[in-house]
Order: sequence, then C-alpha cells, then structure tokens
Amino acid sequence: MKIAFFSTKSYDRQSFEAVNASYQHELTFFDVQLNEKTAVLAAGFPAVCLFVNDTADAAVLDVLASCGTRLLALRSAGFNNVDLQRAAALGIKVVRVPAYSPYAVAEHAVALVLTLNRKLYKAYNRVRDDNFSLEGLLGFDLYGCTVGVVGTGKIGMVFARIMHGFGCSLLGYDAYPNTQFEAIGSARYASLTELLSNSDIISLHCPLLPETRHLINTSTIAQMKSGVMLINTSRGALIDTTAAIAGIKSGKIGYLGIDVYEQEDELFFQDLSDTIIQDDTFQLLQSFPNVVITAHQGFFTRNALENIATTTLSNITDFERGQSLQNEVFERPPAPLKAVV
Ligand code: NAD
Repeated sequence: MKIAFFSTKSYDRQSFEAVNASYQHELTFFDVQLNEKTAVLAAGFPAVCLFVNDTADAAVLDVLASCGTRLLALRSAGFNNVDLQRAAALGIKVVRVPAYSPYAVAEHAVALVLTLNRKLYKAYNRVRDDNFSLEGLLGFDLYGCTVGVVGTGKIGMVFARIMHGFGCSLLGYDAYPNTQFEAIGSARYASLTELLSNSDIISLHCPLLPETRHLINTSTIAQMKSGVMLINTSRGALIDTTAAIAGIKSGKIGYLGIDVYEQEDELFFQDLSDTIIQDDTFQLLQSFPNVVITAHQGFFTRNALENIATTTLSNITDFERGQSLQNEVFERPPAPLKAVV
C-alpha cells in the first residue's frame, strides 16, 4: 500500500525501512508536519502515517479525504491530535500503536525523578568544570516516599512497579481502576484529592482528553504537598503551564520534570539552537533551577522504534487485506467498569 509519512526524521526512515522488508509497502517520507497546508502532499496515498505533533483536525481530514486517504495510521499511542468524529463521518479509519514499550516511557519518567532529585544536570556540568563542590546538590532518599500515579494503565503500571522497587508507597488515581495496581504490595487507589495532598512525587500517565486537560491547575496545585515533585511524560496539556510556573515561584512545586509541553509542536523534534525562541512561557519555565525538560523523548528507545514500525505496518496490512483492525481508534472509549472514589 502507498503510505505517506509526515514529520519524519532519519530514525523513522531507518526503523520503518528495516521493518518494511517483511511487509513490502510503498513508503514515502515527508519531513513536514501534517497540517492544513501540507495535507495535499498526501494526494494519491490511501494511507497516511502521522506522529504526535501532526494535526488531523476537521480541516485537515477534509483535505485528506478529498485526496483519497482512507486510513490514518498513528505511529503513537495517544490520539488527541485526531478529530475522530470527523474521521468517522468521512469514512477514514484510524489505527494506532496502543503499546510499543511502556518500559521506555516509564523508565524515562524515573530518569526525570532521579535527575531532579540528585541534581544530575548540575552535577554533570560542575564536574566537567572542575567544580567538585556539593553545595546545592542535596537530594532525598526515594525509599519511604509516597508516589502518586495518575493513570494506572500500561505505562503507569510499569512506573509504579519501578517506584515500588525503590521502596516507595504508591497512591493511584484512575477513571478505570484495575486490580493489578493494588496487587503491587505498597499500592492503593485513592481519590485525586487524597493523592495530591499525600504524595511527595506525582507522575502523570493518563491520556489527554477533554476531562483531563489542565488536570494540574491552580486549584489542584494548591492541594499538593509543599515542595512536591511533579513529573509529566504523558501530554503537555495535562498541565496548565502558567499555573505550574506560579506553583514553582511560590515553592509549592519543588521540582518539575516534563517530557511534554502544551505548545511543544512549535518547538520539539527540531534543532532551533540558532533561532530566538518566541515562546516566553517556555523560556521562563526552563530558566528555573528546579525544572528539567526533555523534548518528548520518552518513547525513544531502539526497542520502541522497532515495535512502532512493526505494529504500524501490520495495522496497514490488516486494512489493505480488509481484515478486522485490532488497533482501531473509536470516537468514545468504553464506559468505565467502576467509578473512582
Ligand atoms: P493506557 O491507555 O494503557 O493508560 C492510560 C490510563 O489512564 C488508563 O488506565 C485509563 O483508565 C486512565 N485514564 C483515562 N482517563 C482518565 C482520567 N480522566 N483520569 C485518570 N486516569 C484516566 O495508556 P499508556 O500506554 O499507559 O499511555 C499513557 C499516556 O502516555 C498516553 O496517553 C500518551 O499520552 C503518553 N505517552 C507519552 C509518550 C512519550 O514519549 N512521552 C509515549 C507514549 C505515550
């Protein structure tokens, strides 16, 4: 099948070309992001493959449909960038990669916890500068801390198990609780309020949905412990950045580690080192000494890239053969099995 890939980098080409040896699709790679202006590039491609910062809103989908696109293959787990209602109305199927390596993202969240706690970003530069002072590098034992896990799905569960291994107690909050979480010895579900007010570290692993947008805002930050560590490897818009900045300035948020940022589509996945960044909020955020930002690299492991390429090409083969699409994304998620307390 002819597939148009948007927002591609060298590593996308390498991983997809290697895996495609077993699928034999016709791959065309575009560097540009998918948006209303670039959507015409997909003319003649029945399948379009997109990534997290590509836009597939109603306007883009209209152009794609008129160009003959029948399948949107997301090479990501999240699908908040697609107007599913419009896609369904236009008869465009949407598939995704629901799990490619929960370990990659969970381990990156843990890397942020350790980096912030032990101030590795400062220590690395100091030693390179022959500055062997420990002033300002004081950390704390993770052992005995309470860690709040918001979203106990695939990534949240791996993160929870790792933190349990450090000797932390776990509080979980999820709209769809699962029994495996409380099977981790030190874990129990709580209300969001209880999680926020009792956790030393809070890590976000829920999807971006209308009901989770700005889940972390002025009011929820006010409920947190003073000096809390907040980690977000999920989606930027889970956090109201302006409220987080106020929380950092007041000392309520003692550490912030983010791999995602609400306006990241203007910045991430590009080398902008020679340009003047126009996003003042981002510049302010990264000026704080207790903030570590990575540019959406949680997924970026060898294992994950290979799994992403395999599942994406297999999804497309299923579509081409008219088989059932096991990774199809539908407009609404299934109803909750059990309401959260
Ligand atoms: P998942 O579907 O397995 O788990 C998500 C969990 O969130 C589920 O248990 C679900 O019930 C829960 N949830 C849904 N609505 C909720 C709500 N309103 N409040 C609290 N919990 C809610 O997904 P996953 O594979 O664990 O991925 C989680 C998120 O991680 C994705 O949605 C994506 O945004 C993000 N992600 C980031 C990267 C990265 O590179 N940084 C890579 C992959 C995924």
